[in-house]
Amino acid sequence: MALLPIAKLGNPVLRQPAQPVDLVEIKGQAMQQFIDDMLETMVDAEGIGLAAPQVSRLQQIVVMECLVEGGFPRTVLVNPEIVYYGPRQVEMWEGCLSVDGLRGKVTRPSMVRVRAFDRHGGPLEFDATGLYAVCIQHEMDHLNGKVFLDRMTDFSTLTQLDEFDRYWRQEHAAVI
Ligand code: ZN
Repeated sequence: MALLPIAKLGNPVLRQPAQPVDLVEIKGQAMQQFIDDMLETMVDAEGIGLAAPQVSRLQQIVVMECLVEGGFPRTVLVNPEIVYYGPRQVEMWEGCLSVDGLRGKVTRPSMVRVRAFDRHGGPLEFDATGLYAVCIQHEMDHLNGKVFLDRMTDFSTLTQLDEFDRYWRQEHAAVI
C-alpha cells in the first residue's frame, strides 16, 4: 500500500477527460494495487471520495466511503455512467481533496441510477440518494475534467475552512 500524491486545482490533469479501463486490466495485480492505494489515500486525507485523475491517472475509476450515520459503504466504480437522474434537486456543501480549504454549496439531482463495473470487473447497477448520490456525481465530474466549483451557481456561499467551521459547520459538508 502507498499514499499517492493528490493533484491540486491548477494541475492540468484535473481538467482532462479520463479514459475507460480495459476490463482485462481491472483484474490484474497492478490495478488492484492501484485501487487499494486510492482507498488508502482517500482515508488518509479524510475524504469520502477520490477519482483517479486526482492522483494524476486519467482512467475512469472512483472510490468512495463514508462510514458515519447517513453515509454509505465502501464503493469502487470502474467505467461508471449515470443512466438516470431523479427529478428532485438537493443543495449540499461540497469540498474537494484537490481544492484546499474551500467549501461551497452545490445543487444537484438528489437521486441517480449508476451503471458501472466493480473492482473485479463484475457488472453493477444501483440507485443512490442523498449524500451518496452527491458524492457519485462529484467524483464522476472529475472523470470529465470538472470540479465542484464549475457546478456552483452562486459563489456567495464560497467559504474558507476556518469560516466554515465557525459559521456553517452545523450544516453537513461533503468533503469529496
Ligand atoms: Zn473532488
